[in-house]
Amino acid sequence: MQNLNIETIGVRTQLQRSHFNEHSAPLYLTSSFVFDSAEDLRAAFNEETEAFIYSRYGNPNNEEFVSKVSIMEGAEAGIATSSGMAAIYATFMSLVSSGDHVISCSSIFGATHTIFTKYFPKIGVTYSYFDANDVHEIEKLIKPNTKFVYLETPTNPAIEVIDLELVNTIVKKHGLILIVDNCFATPYLQKPIEYGADIVIHSATKYMDGQGRVLGGVVVGKESLIREIYLFNRITGASLSPFNAWILSKSMETLPLRMDRHCDNALKVARFLEGQKGILQVKYPFLESHPNYAIAKKQMKLGGGIVAFTLEGGLQKGAQFLNKLNMIKISANLGDSRTIATHPASSTHCKLSAQERLQVGIDDGMIRISVGLEHYEDIINDLSQAL
Ligand SMILES: *Cc1c(COP(=O)(O)O)cnc(C)c1O
Repeated sequence: MQNLNIETIGVRTQLQRSHFNEHSAPLYLTSSFVFDSAEDLRAAFNEETEAFIYSRYGNPNNEEFVSKVSIMEGAEAGIATSSGMAAIYATFMSLVSSGDHVISCSSIFGATHTIFTKYFPKIGVTYSYFDANDVHEIEKLIKPNTKFVYLETPTNPAIEVIDLELVNTIVKKHGLILIVDNCFATPYLQKPIEYGADIVIHSATKYMDGQGRVLGGVVVGKESLIREIYLFNRITGASLSPFNAWILSKSMETLPLRMDRHCDNALKVARFLEGQKGILQVKYPFLESHPNYAIAKKQMKLGGGIVAFTLEGGLQKGAQFLNKLNMIKISANLGDSRTIATHPASSTHCKLSAQERLQVGIDDGMIRISVGLEHYEDIINDLSQAL
């Protein structure tokens, strides 16, 4: 499957047919698998044979989903987890030990930030943050005990773009591991492994499902690293349910198609917003006005489905705007077929002070739109009347 185009990989990577010769992969709702003999069971446990044993260890539906993502990302191996956060946590825990130090971009998903700030201190792991707009800072933050460098691009919710090639050059010069949360871009728009990333993580809950139905996560990358992450996740139990894997596997068939429309709509929304009064700034990777437009063009196929903009008038104006929306719903999710609006200052980042929010690139008047698959005119009309 390696030489096929990504659209074909999504559609054609399938489980081997069962004896029923089904056309579409069936759902394997089973917690465990049986063996013909004690010797077969022993061989499976010893990994002398490849057999499914128990669904916490692995399941055919999980395997199908993981192979699609691994091949799309150009990765050697992968594992599926019960959510994006399970993927991130399992990755971190399999890599760090007490006394280690890690480096992360400061502009990251809220729960990932909480792992660094609340749970890493408990196990004696320290962290340093670099600014998405100053990746050269990474070099100054590296210590002898630094284990990995972690980042998201485009970042959430400020939609900054980080130069993967440049970061990888710095990281590899010091022999460190580079981990990229590729959730906003998906493998259709951006393949961090091509720029040297060792591990790529996704919250499959977002664009991979794409229809707001299931939670899921996936980690792909170097086989030796994935093996350790797999063992951690299998022991601690955050395995993806077969049903969710089945849903996600079907969704991957339409990922490229959906991303094309998300990106096309998002660019139209961004262009519309740029011309409006009362808006201070519009952030979208493929707008010429984006500070890292050239980097986005280099490493992304299209600009993604998320647009951020800043309303004049701060906290109050942001909340007012959300309340005026009709079709577009207020939700903390993203990557859905339905357009969603969020006001980070009064939701995901409300526990931070205004000063702290600014440090992670969030102005109090910032609105984040996850542009859906509706006709773009209907999305723009709703935004227009709310403005
Ligand atoms: C949602 C999200 C996560 C967490 O994923 P869950 O599936 O909600 O656990 C991690 N990273 C990014 C960038 C996300 O958007």
